Amino acid sequence: MTGALGEFGLIARYFRRPATRSPLGVGDDCALLAPAPGMQLAVSSDMLVEGRHFLSTVAPARLGHKALAVNLSDLAACGARPLAFTLALALPAVDEDWLEGFSRGLFALADAHGCELVGGDTTRGPLNVCITVFGEVPPGAALLRSGARAGDDVWVSGTLGDARLALEVFRGTLDLPAAAFALARRRMETPTPRVALGLALRRVATAALDVSDGLVGDLRHLLEASGVGATLDADAAAARVALGAPGADAGLDTDLLRLCALSGGDDYELVFTAPAAARAAVERAGRDADTPVARIGRIDAEPGLRIVDAAGAPVAQRFTAFDHFA
Ligand code: ADP
Ligand code: MG
Repeated sequence: MTGALGEFGLIARYFRRPATRSPLGVGDDCALLAPAPGMQLAVSSDMLVEGRHFLSTVAPARLGHKALAVNLSDLAACGARPLAFTLALALPAVDEDWLEGFSRGLFALADAHGCELVGGDTTRGPLNVCITVFGEVPPGAALLRSGARAGDDVWVSGTLGDARLALEVFRGTLDLPAAAFALARRRMETPTPRVALGLALRRVATAALDVSDGLVGDLRHLLEASGVGATLDADAAAARVALGAPGADAGLDTDLLRLCALSGGDDYELVFTAPAAARAAVERAGRDADTPVARIGRIDAEPGLRIVDAAGAPVAQRFTAFDHFA
């Protein structure tokens, strides 16, 4: 890399901090990680590409937050505790304002989760951010996609669909009042990884995943992995859209709320299943994690996904998952 600040200068200035949790951080050929004795490592990578996963208008600090948040969300979905991460970064040029903002947003979230940057790679190229996170989980305790059983409830954390509403405003297909747009934009640009909830759901949930490509599409992965089907209440899901709440004054109709909740994408909430007998335990996990949880359906023995309204009647509307290659 060239520029006033070279490759190693920029790494030293923006990405190298004293290692506190790991035996060796940024700067050597490898980082060294020390999970607690007997723990399994949980590992996940997520890449953000400009124009595909984020818009060029996003503030760098928010991009730094989101790049790590989407990775922490995967650890959350497994019930793993964050340990460390690596950062592979392609930059079109050395822009110190951008690097300052990006690293500030990144480290604010990293510090909030005690997750330490231990290494990475930096190169010139179209803006691209790839993070790999490492977490730890006791053997056998990870939440998997494969554990859902007929009769389980389907739950979702937090709110759904608001990020998609912001995207539609950027695309010019929707108008929102300023306050509503600000809320939606925050959900799109600075999602909250549900790490504490994932930890609290260990030994309570039977299966879990995080919603990145839309509820319906992601839930199908869980159903396939578990060899079951589900009935989903479109109105219970639509009620999770923050901008659909009466006070939000966003004037959104039912079809749009259902669409955004069920196939919006970019939510980074947890969808999980638990036996009906565990309802109180799920509610307690939500309270302990300070995260709202809501029941939106049930698991069936019959394969496939059936979407119904609040009265139990089938919903005709089509809901598809986001697919980068479709
Ligand atoms: P190598 O030549 O072994 O691939 P590099 O020269 O790419 O190593 O990187 C030098 C050091 O800086 C390594 O410890 C690497 O992990 C770290 N590093 C490079 N880019 C980043 C980054 N964006 N964030 C954190 N650490 C980085
Ligand atoms: Mg090396």
